[in-house]
This record gives sequence, C-alpha cells and structure tokens, in this order.
Amino acid sequence: MVTADPVTPNLLPPGPVAQAPGAILDWYAAHQRDLPWRRPQATPWAVLVSEIMLQQTPVARVLPVYAAWLARWPTPASLAASPAGDAVRAWGRLGYPRRAIRLHATAQALVERHGGEVPASADALRALPGIGSYTAAAVASFAFGQRHVVLDTNVRRVLARLVSGRELPSPSMSAAERRLAESLLPEQPAVAARWSVAVMELGALVCTAVRPRCASCPVAASCAWRRAGHPAGGGPRRSQKYAGTDRQCRGRLLAVLRDCAGPVPGSQLEAAWADQLQRSRALDGLVADGLVDPLPDGRFALPGTHPIPGTPAPPAKPALRARPALPAKPALPAKPALPAKH
Ligand code: SF4
Repeated sequence: MVTADPVTPNLLPPGPVAQAPGAILDWYAAHQRDLPWRRPQATPWAVLVSEIMLQQTPVARVLPVYAAWLARWPTPASLAASPAGDAVRAWGRLGYPRRAIRLHATAQALVERHGGEVPASADALRALPGIGSYTAAAVASFAFGQRHVVLDTNVRRVLARLVSGRELPSPSMSAAERRLAESLLPEQPAVAARWSVAVMELGALVCTAVRPRCASCPVAASCAWRRAGHPAGGGPRRSQKYAGTDRQCRGRLLAVLRDCAGPVPGSQLEAAWADQLQRSRALDGLVADGLVDPLPDGRFALPGTHPIPGTPAPPAKPALRARPALPAKPALPAKPALPAKH
C-alpha cells in the first residue's frame, strides 16, 4: 500500500546519481544471471508464474518447482483443467501455499475472460484474482516490455541507499518513494523494463540486505548511503519466528496430504502435530483458505481431488475463444541509448 506524504519534493538529486540508469544497465548486461523467466522464449504465462513463485521465496528454491510446473502446465488452460489440489501438491515446499490456489484461480480467470491468454494491460492483469499492483506491473514490464514502476524489496533497498542515503526503505511504501522510482525510470518502455530487472538484480547480487558488496557496485561513486559512511538504519528486519507457529503446523498438515495419493484420516494428521488445539486451528484455517477439503466420512483431501457426495459437479469448463496472436516479445537492447535526462 502506498502512503500519502505531505510534501512533493524533487527527489531526484542533481549530479552523478542521474547517471545511475546507464551504469546499472551496463553492469546488468555483463553480470545478469541466466534465469528461465528472463529468456526470450519465456511466455507471458511463464513470467506470471515466476512472479507469483518468487514472492517471498528465493530463486534457488523456485527454479525446480517452476520447471516442473511449466512442463506440466505450459498454458493457463492446462492448469485450469486440473483440480486445484494438484496445484497445491505441485507447489511442494515453496511456502505460502495460498499462492498455488490463487495461481489456479488466475488460470481459470484467464480462460474465462481472456481466451486462455495473459493480457498485456496492467489494468486487466490487476483485475485477475490474486494479482496485485506489483505483480501486474512486473508482468506488463517483463513479459510485454511496457514502462511501469516495478518496486520489489530489492529495488526499494537499492534506491533507498543510492538516492536517499538510508540503509533501508520505510516498512510501507510512500508516494514519494514511487515518485523517486518514476523519476529514474528510462522513458523508452523496453529500456524501462530492462532497468527494473537490472536494479532487482543489483539488489539480489551486490546491494544485498546484509553486507552489501560496495566495492563491486557500479554506482558506488554516487551512492548517498556509502558516501555518508553507511549510517546504521536499524539493520535488516528480523525474520519472523517459524518453529512452533501455526504456519509451521499448517505446513506439516499440508505435507501429509501432499505426500498421500488420496484422502487421509484425521488420525494421520494427529500424528503430524501433537498440540490438538493448534492442530485444529491450523486445519480450520487450511479449510477456510480452500487448501483442504473436509470429506463427509471424516477424512481430508487436497481441494477438488476427491468427489464429495451431494455437492454439485464443477461447472463445465468454458470453451476457449480463438487464440489471438501473441504480440512479439519486445527485444531488449543490450546497451540502450538513454534519454538525455538520465
Ligand atoms: S554502493 Fe553499496 S550500498 Fe550503495 S548501491 Fe552500491 S552496493 Fe548498495
């Protein structure tokens, strides 16, 4: 959420930082990782899947699940035709499994509203279930080469240090922060898209949350935080405790269901977590989130994987409209000419 700020300062300071886009783009051309969702052949659907999986999950853990997911469901229609429980099972241990349910719902909405294609419009993307402003901007930028401000954790950290001289951005995004990002965004859409991914990569590889590698940074000379002597800003926020939480309990229960081919009795879930009160609370939460189906005979199943007597059959899948021709993925120049203002 963007919070309002009372003043509207000119946040792009004059001087060397205005050269940052060129320096970071050059660095990216030389140092970018070869990640499957960045390759030219990555479809908009593949980009969307990667964006959902990468939320709160490191690249190394996403890579194998992403590859298996797209091998099994190369299009939204193929995922929409599977039970939601298959998506939960394939999500494995990526964490925050509600993302699997949301991705399944997104696939169904793409079939119903967009003929099985990912729309290029950020507004149409934002209207899909589970797609927020960040993901819509990221998919429109990275899949369709459009000009949007894409502010993830890495980008926010880099800009906070480089321009604002602070170790970390504020917990909630401000309108001023968006204006700063907008002011640095190159004008040409394809260059802007490349700039966004380049800053992300700099944040992931060099300007890391802990022990940034300033000696290897392409914008070290103009970095406000470095020039100020790296003043402490409270340090990285501590990660949340996991052991013993309801979240861990949910993960254990869901793992039992994922690891079984069919429904499981309650006694099998009891063996996975000893605390009865916490287990009941976690199970209720999983059911409420649509991640688990309680069956009339007392067993539990992944959603949509086991028929429930007395419940209406799922609606027939909508017929796909004729597939519109996909727009060609814009070529991203290796060393783009930047607008004069940068
Ligand atoms: S000089 Fe250091 S702190 Fe500044 S942007 Fe580069 S890596 Fe980050």
